[in-house]
Amino acid sequence: MPRIYLDYNATTPVDPAVLEEVVNTLKNYQGNPSSVYEEGRAARILIEDSRDLVKSFLDAGNSGEIIFTSSGSESINLAITGSVYAYMKNNKKKVPHIITSTVEHHAVLNTFKFLESIGAETTYIGVNEFGMIDIEEITGAIRENTSLVSIMGANNETGTLFPIKQIFEEVKKVKEDVICHSDLVQVIGKAHFSLKDVPLDMCSFSGHKFYALKGCGALYVKKGVNIEPIIHGGHQERGLRAGTENIAGIVSIAKALSLLKNIMNDELTRINSLGSIFHDKLFYGIEGIKLNGNPVNRLKNTLNVSFDGVKSETLLFNLDLYGISASAGSACNAGTVSLSHVLKAHGYDAKRIESAIRFSIGRYTTEDDIDYAVSAIKKGVLKLRTGS
Ligand code: PLP
Repeated sequence: MPRIYLDYNATTPVDPAVLEEVVNTLKNYQGNPSSVYEEGRAARILIEDSRDLVKSFLDAGNSGEIIFTSSGSESINLAITGSVYAYMKNNKKKVPHIITSTVEHHAVLNTFKFLESIGAETTYIGVNEFGMIDIEEITGAIRENTSLVSIMGANNETGTLFPIKQIFEEVKKVKEDVICHSDLVQVIGKAHFSLKDVPLDMCSFSGHKFYALKGCGALYVKKGVNIEPIIHGGHQERGLRAGTENIAGIVSIAKALSLLKNIMNDELTRINSLGSIFHDKLFYGIEGIKLNGNPVNRLKNTLNVSFDGVKSETLLFNLDLYGISASAGSACNAGTVSLSHVLKAHGYDAKRIESAIRFSIGRYTTEDDIDYAVSAIKKGVLKLRTGS
């Protein structure tokens, strides 16, 4: 029985070339990068070279700095909480107002909830049934004390792409000093992105979504943007993130992005075409299914689909028996019975949400995998619908 992995939005396997680089790093760089003797200096050089590679991937030039973190979640926490703390410190404890969307990952939403609990004012902008956000609603929500707007680049559950270039351009027109942050965890590696195109002050990434190691992430911070650290201790990461650096994780990010830079065009062409094939075979092959999210503006690697009359958990269980890995809602919600907040925000009814499954493909998915998966999904859906 083959195992067909269709959950690349949850995490990606480590690329073998990244793994080789990581093993090499672990073997040959044992020093503490803060030490001044040779072993420390060698590790420090590796980190700074990795930082330069990440900056180059993002077309950051000398516009800002990369801060390495432990995850996408930590990058997001540092960006949002760090900027709110800095605002309060620099504005004599004035209450900050921050804006986001209702379909963000919990790393953003729960950071907002935390900041609300310590007095920040918050606004959540909703989406329509196609996952689209009204830009005027965002700009209309900006107040005199608005300090930050955080809107994700692509949704992890539906793959819906947000027009972040337009959004942040309009935000800046209304209030130049609002800090613009984007959670790009699902964008990097799945779509083209350049800091030259989007007026961002900060953006967050996660290594394990683009074939690097799990447990490492990065935050881009533009020069002049004030943030306070949220982890206190040593002076690592430009004084913004204390703790001895995860050298292997950092190297894995740099290596994965260097690889991506070379293969991105071909990889995206292949995955997008495979995504369309997957979509067509599913929709022509099975009746009573609905695509969740945006049918046009979405990452083509992601298919979030509701199967009429089928509970997603039962279908996932059956698919697992056929060797297929996929998820209901986002992976980070796994194990909880609550309905996906993302699909609820689209206004879908409970039945549609309870029958939603997210399939996400990537670097190692083949057309044979798609064919096998479609036939297994058909069998599983038929079995559950007929009760046989
Ligand atoms: N943001 C988005 C859109 C995500 O999909 C995820 C993970 O699924 C995160 C943030 C959190 O990233 P990490 O798992 O590195 O903490």
